Amino acid sequence: GIHFEKVVKRFGDNVVLRELDFTVEPGERVTLIGPSGSGKTTILRLLMTLEKADGGVIRVGDRPLSHMEKNGKLVPANEKHLHEMRKQIGMVFQQFNLFPNMNVMRNLTEGPIRVLGLSKEEARERATRLLDMVGLGDKAEEHPTRLSGGQQQRVAIARALAMEPKVLLLDEVTSALDPELVVGVQDLLRDIARQSDLTILCVTHEMHFAKDISDRVLMFDQGQIVEEGPPDQIFGEPSEQRTRDFLQAVL
Ligand code: ATP
Repeated sequence: GIHFEKVVKRFGDNVVLRELDFTVEPGERVTLIGPSGSGKTTILRLLMTLEKADGGVIRVGDRPLSHMEKNGKLVPANEKHLHEMRKQIGMVFQQFNLFPNMNVMRNLTEGPIRVLGLSKEEARERATRLLDMVGLGDKAEEHPTRLSGGQQQRVAIARALAMEPKVLLLDEVTSALDPELVVGVQDLLRDIARQSDLTILCVTHEMHFAKDISDRVLMFDQGQIVEEGPPDQIFGEPSEQRTRDFLQAVL
C-alpha cells in the first residue's frame, strides 16, 4: 500500500500539500479528483521521486520512500534505496513518454533486462504476452511514432506492467487522446484493474472512468482531502458543497 503522513509540499510560497494524510491499502484502487492546481499530479510525482516532500513521510509498502533506516534512525535515502523503491512503482503518463528511438518490443524489454536483470528471452516472452493482452500483438517491431495515440498509450501501459510493479500510478492517461480512442484505453485499464492485485492510484478528470476503475474516490481541494468514499457515494450523494460544485462544473 501507500501511506502519506503529514506530507507537506511547497513550491516557493505556494503550499501545494498541507500536512496531507491518506492511505491506499494493498490491492486497493483509488482515484483522486478535484480542481486544477489542487495538487493531484504532485502526489504522483512525489511517489515517483520526481519531486521531494518538504515535510512528513511517504511510505510504499511499509518502507519510507525518501528515508531509510540506519542504526535505528531514519536518514535520507541513498540512490540504491530510491532505486529499490522505484522498482515497485509503475507510472503511465498523459503524454505516453515512450522511448522514441526504440521499437515497441524494446520499449517493453529495456527495463526488465536492465533493471530487473531478466534474460533477453524472458523479457521478450513477457513483452509478447503483454502486447497480446493490450491488443498489439502484431506491432512488436513497429516504431512508436507510427502508432496512433491510443496504441501508444497501450504500449505505455504494457511497458509499465512489464516491470511487474506493486503500485500503478495513472496520471490523466486519456487526456491527450482523440475522443474516439478514449473509451478503448479506459476499458483496458478497467479490466487490468479488476483482474490484477495491483494497488492503483489514478488522477483523472473523467468522472465515468473514476467511477469505473475505483474502489474509493478522494475529492481534493487546495492540497487537502475534502471528502472521500466509494464512487457511488461521491458521485451520487456527495456531502460537501465543494464536491457538489466541482461535480456540477465537470459533469
Ligand atoms: P491539474 O488537474 O491541472 O493537473 P493538479 O491538481 O494535478 O492540477 P498539480 O499539478 O499537482 O495540480 O499542481 C499543484 C500546484 O503546484 C499548482 O499551483 C502548480 O502551479 C504548482 N506546481 C506544480 N509543479 C510545480 C513546479 N515544478 N514549480 C512550481 N510550481 C509548481
